[in-house]
Amino acid sequence: MAQESTSVHKVVIIGSGPSGWTAAIYAARANLEPVVYVGVAKQDPGPVLPGGQLMLTTDVENYPGFPEGIAGPEMMMKFEEQARRFGTTVVGEDITKCEFSSDGSPHTLHTSSGDTIQAHAVIISTGATANWIGLDSEMKLAMTGGGVSACAVCDGALPMFRDQHVAVVGGGDSAMEEATFLTKFASKVSVIHRRDELRASKVMQERFLNKENAEVLWNKTVIECLSEPDQMGNEKISAVRLKDTVTGEESELAIKGLFVAIGHSPATKFLQDTALEFDSAGYIDLKDRSSKTNIEGVFAAGDVADAKYRQAITASGMGCQAALDAEHWLGDKGLI
Ligand code: NAP
Repeated sequence: MAQESTSVHKVVIIGSGPSGWTAAIYAARANLEPVVYVGVAKQDPGPVLPGGQLMLTTDVENYPGFPEGIAGPEMMMKFEEQARRFGTTVVGEDITKCEFSSDGSPHTLHTSSGDTIQAHAVIISTGATANWIGLDSEMKLAMTGGGVSACAVCDGALPMFRDQHVAVVGGGDSAMEEATFLTKFASKVSVIHRRDELRASKVMQERFLNKENAEVLWNKTVIECLSEPDQMGNEKISAVRLKDTVTGEESELAIKGLFVAIGHSPATKFLQDTALEFDSAGYIDLKDRSSKTNIEGVFAAGDVADAKYRQAITASGMGCQAALDAEHWLGDKGLI
């Protein structure tokens, strides 16, 4: 049942990736009694999970302190454990709407269960979600388990893709990571890239290209996903129609799985009705090399405000900054 909260939280943190949990650890240790809204798992149309993108990552090998690497979900569990140890309250809901005040009164946040809560300081750390090509045929198959996915790490090991020819769209590090992962299960992995040069780092390129069952189809875009019914009558991808970006020639590639890895967009939909300022790419605009936004008492951290670095370690650093900025701001306003 919908409830109105009577108390005003000092700090509410929205989102539970590396930035959110790090902000919580710092805020909790500063006795700010933070409340983290971790979000709820949903299809959007791809998977959106509490814990953020690391929940869809196998091994994190570049976060200092884990010389042997650590699984993304395990890392997020440890972050949460650390935040809880210092008194963080964790709520398994989304914040669906924000009403930010401009007169110094507390900010009002609406939750997915219909509650309304209030906070002096808000830290937005909702991260970013996977992009899609934008084809009707792609979305239809993605929504119905038809063999189209934006996360090879989540779906690539499914029986339907084992020993089959699958394809990955994209030319960045994500595409290479996903494609390399898939070479373990699929008989062949074709990367479909729209240019004649990969954007991915050399080391990631080589890791993929050195696999026996790897290939890159250069200068190609996917213009349609074709499907046919399986034994149960459910539509599954059977091929993609490709268009050559240089010659315009069209062709067909028979595949049993398509993985889209063409970047991410910041998760800011729930902020669109606010006065918050965004940059031209839709990421939250930060002021003065800090975590401050254009609204007093509203801070942002991690991929939702960072189109450039987008790493777990940089997101964590930004979470730390946001908690310190919030603490100083609350102190300056006499709210703690
Ligand atoms: P990204 O670097 O932005 O690459 C996106 C790729 O998708 C590009 O090759 C782009 O083509 C292609 N693309 C974009 N829109 C497309 C469309 N509509 N149709 C077809 N292709 C399209 O994104 P990312 O690979 O997700 O990486 C994001 C950041 O995370 C990067 O900084 C990356 O280094 C980092 N990352 C690191 C690791 C790691 O080190 N383990 C793993 C994953 C990601 P163009 O090249 O033609 O623009």
